[in-house]
Amino acid sequence: MLKVAKFGGSSLAGAEQFKKVKAIVEADPARRIVVVSAAGKRTDDDHKITDLLYLTHAHLKYGVSYEEIFSMIERRYYGIRDALGLKYDLESEFAKLRGELRRDISVDYLVSRGEYLTARLMAEYLGYGFVDAKDCVFFQYDGTIDFDATYRALAEAAVRSPRLVLPGFYGAMPNGRVRVMTRGGSDITGSLAANAADADVYENWTDVSGILMADPRIVDHPQPISRVTYDELRELAYMGASVLHDESIQPVKEKNIPLNIRNTNEPENPGTMIVERVEREEEAGGNRFITGIAGRKGFTVLTIHKKQIAQNTAFVRRALEIFENSHVPVEHITLGVDSFAIMTPTAQVGDSIYDIIGEIRKRCAPDDIRTEENIAMIACVGRKMVYQPGTCGKLFGALGENDINIKAISQGTNEISILVGVHNHDFEKAIRVLYNGFVA
Ligand code: ASP
Repeated sequence: MLKVAKFGGSSLAGAEQFKKVKAIVEADPARRIVVVSAAGKRTDDDHKITDLLYLTHAHLKYGVSYEEIFSMIERRYYGIRDALGLKYDLESEFAKLRGELRRDISVDYLVSRGEYLTARLMAEYLGYGFVDAKDCVFFQYDGTIDFDATYRALAEAAVRSPRLVLPGFYGAMPNGRVRVMTRGGSDITGSLAANAADADVYENWTDVSGILMADPRIVDHPQPISRVTYDELRELAYMGASVLHDESIQPVKEKNIPLNIRNTNEPENPGTMIVERVEREEEAGGNRFITGIAGRKGFTVLTIHKKQIAQNTAFVRRALEIFENSHVPVEHITLGVDSFAIMTPTAQVGDSIYDIIGEIRKRCAPDDIRTEENIAMIACVGRKMVYQPGTCGKLFGALGENDINIKAISQGTNEISILVGVHNHDFEKAIRVLYNGFVA
């Protein structure tokens, strides 16, 4: 049994959190590969080390003294080391880094030191080997991950060091220079390691006990999701439920490795298990047919009316082409007999909506075009919806009974999500109605 355990910044924010991590790792001998982020915030008004490192570089670039910020970083690491009685030679590391700051240090290298130093301390604390991500996570020149080389190197590292700590978030370019991933990238490193080592589980330890069925800022104490499929998670994440880095799914999904979201501050909670397929539905929320509800505000809906549009493929293609040429994303489309609606994020379409309408008038000769702004899209996601006739009717009925006007409807082609568009001002209420009607 092999588990890759990735710990996020809040799980490593200070010595107390390090102790919790150690207890978790020691509680299960299968946790042999540990991936760490940089130390995060200890309290709401604290700072993430990664942010402080970016800030240090910005000060450097503009020729402003970075001393105060950089010494905050040093103090944080010394604090953790000393409180845990570790010996790691941070003095030399910081002296070297200070020397590099005076020369032309790259922003990626500087920022990667957050994960690097956290991993150094954690490796000593756990008594695990340290493996540098620059030696086993590789990028191609275009910045994408070189999966073959990375999997090979990580698999070799796992054989060489049966118990290891690996810093997340960075790797090396073909010329050996350090490059960081996008923010939250340690999730990806953990997933790569799980794939390479053929892990049985990829555990992602954070500060929430799994994924909730709805946004807790909208619904009071939403229930946690015990099991969710990768496909459902994609739908939820796309509609605004932020849980994991997008790119962290594929490497584990590809090998059918379950991903378990856990809470470092509540390790007894089983959290959320993300799997390719749910084998025993009765253990995963009974006969509830909704897995989660998520949504986003701020869409513009452009409805084009034209007789017999459904039979006029060229018309639809031309309209979409106009969006494509304007570099405006089309997020949802619905096609009716005599009309065609395109939903696009208002912030991204901006003023180009007028040019788009002009172009459509010119090239498609529609009978009429209407736009409506301030639309919110809500996704009800559930793998079991496909087996339940009448699901849409029930959902729409509940919204209607509560005086919520439905502006658009679309069912995902995989039948695991139903999307409803409502006015922005009905967004929260609609989510509560759906949650209370079908979950609570
Ligand atoms: N430390 C990086 C960040 O704050 C990467 C990570 O935590 O995954 O984004």
